[in-house]
Amino acid sequence: MSVVAEQIIKLNEELPAEVKLVAVSKYHPAEAIEQAYCVGQRIFGESKVQEVVAKAQVLPKDIQWHFIGHLQRNKVKQLLPHVALIHSVDSLRLLETINEESQRIGKVTDILLQLHVAQEESKYGFTIEECLSAAKSGFFDKSTNVRVVGVMGMATFTDDTQQIEREFGVVQYIFDKLKNGVFADNPYFKELSIGMSDDYQIAISKGSTLVRIGSAIFGNRIYK
Ligand SMILES: *Cc1c(COP(=O)(O)O)cnc(C)c1O
Repeated sequence: MSVVAEQIIKLNEELPAEVKLVAVSKYHPAEAIEQAYCVGQRIFGESKVQEVVAKAQVLPKDIQWHFIGHLQRNKVKQLLPHVALIHSVDSLRLLETINEESQRIGKVTDILLQLHVAQEESKYGFTIEECLSAAKSGFFDKSTNVRVVGVMGMATFTDDTQQIEREFGVVQYIFDKLKNGVFADNPYFKELSIGMSDDYQIAISKGSTLVRIGSAIFGNRIYK
């Protein structure tokens, strides 16, 4: 059996039943995805629109493509026909574009609101105040072709596990607050996307429902 297949099986044994595995296949070839697919993996995470489009063309149609990278508004049109969930919606303008384009093609697109909790300025996302004020202004209600199904967060890139715990704790707090508050009438709002190869155990302890794991499955990425 391939190393990829072995890692998928091992992770599935380890992850609690309510946690879904997003196998982050960005920068890895279609063959690697097939090895994971053969042992039952169906959700794959990608961060470049061209890569999703190219891979979706050659790989089985029952794969659910999750988009996890920073999404430019001019790429939304290309992405939408292929994508099952966009984790990385980080501005209201982007959400608006996704809504308009979804309307045009007669689709309802599932998205997560990306939250900014890391120390790094470079990371994208909303603050809790921005989420609450958008909800109160009716922005999500009027975006009828977008379904907000939860939130996504990324911790600071650090070895300090206490800091990661703290930051995931903040994401969990915001998730609970939105779920029990402004999204209380939305039964689809239930996904908490936190955790990557190095911090998914911490993320699970903070209530993660979607872990996004790349290098622990596919090995190191070679950026070309
Ligand atoms: C690349 C990436 C991952 C996977 O990271 P690994 O450390 O390889 O598991 C998860 N989430 C996002 C948003 C990413 O860009």
